[in-house]
Amino acid sequence: MKVTIDKQSGFCWGVVRTVQIAEQQLNDKTERNVYVLGNIIHNPKEIERLAEKGLRTIQVEDFPSISNSGAKVIIRAHGEPPDTYRAAWDNKIEIIDATCPVVTKLQERVRKFYDQGFQIVIFGKKDHAEVLGVRGVVHDSCVVVQTVAEAMELVQLDKPTVLFSQTTMDRPTFYEVRDALKKKIADLVVDSMENIASEFHAKDTICGQVSGRENQLITYAKSNDVIVFVAGRASSNGKVLFDIAKKANPNTHFVEDITEINPEWFNGANTAGISGATSTPHWYMMQVQEYMEGLTPETMQIPI
Ligand code: SF4
Repeated sequence: MKVTIDKQSGFCWGVVRTVQIAEQQLNDKTERNVYVLGNIIHNPKEIERLAEKGLRTIQVEDFPSISNSGAKVIIRAHGEPPDTYRAAWDNKIEIIDATCPVVTKLQERVRKFYDQGFQIVIFGKKDHAEVLGVRGVVHDSCVVVQTVAEAMELVQLDKPTVLFSQTTMDRPTFYEVRDALKKKIADLVVDSMENIASEFHAKDTICGQVSGRENQLITYAKSNDVIVFVAGRASSNGKVLFDIAKKANPNTHFVEDITEINPEWFNGANTAGISGATSTPHWYMMQVQEYMEGLTPETMQIPI
């Protein structure tokens, strides 16, 4: 069985940047403790690797316990709300800001529309770290929706509105939500005759590092008999990309750990592909490849 790794999979540049910043801080010999706010990325393997190098995970509530200790706290790629920076300042903690520039840009754009009095609608997961950061920027004065039904129920249709997306959501559903809102808010224009109330903007802020992989992933999934998709279960883009691969090739299996691989999946397969999320480390996909290349007809339970 020929086993390959999807060349487009693995860390996106935003995650590469965050991990590099963490490693630079850990290699700094000043003997100051290095913390990260929340799991550095949604991948248990990489978290484990960095923890072995000394990276400690904390929450904002832990700030008083490291106050004034010279500790450095990394803000991960998802970003943080303004309150976090204030809490760090109050506790005399140095912040190392590794927020992905794409997320910083999203926060800036949301703030701009909020300051102009727009109703802010976010297509995303309410409690996802990135969305928590964006919610903080607008003092939680926004509506977060994941479906058209939620948008229809929660969005006030008589207000100037702007729709944004969490960077790692799926584009087809974003367009469904956009079209449904556009239709309703456009209807209101006719009724209210108030142009300001008709103003509706949809900002597709889905990151190209996720959506840009769709077509290539479909081709890759179709060109292999079996796909093993490796990602952390908490990874949003992992879920989105896995669904795309699974649709293209029903013999696609999600695993977080090598031990979840069932050798019988490869029974009769000539080709197997390994793909992953933007937070899946390449070194781990190589371990998965080595394991799969070591499978024998006996372990796959192929009748001889
Ligand atoms: S997926 Fe995009 S937004 Fe998220 S960390 Fe990577 S580059 Fe940044």
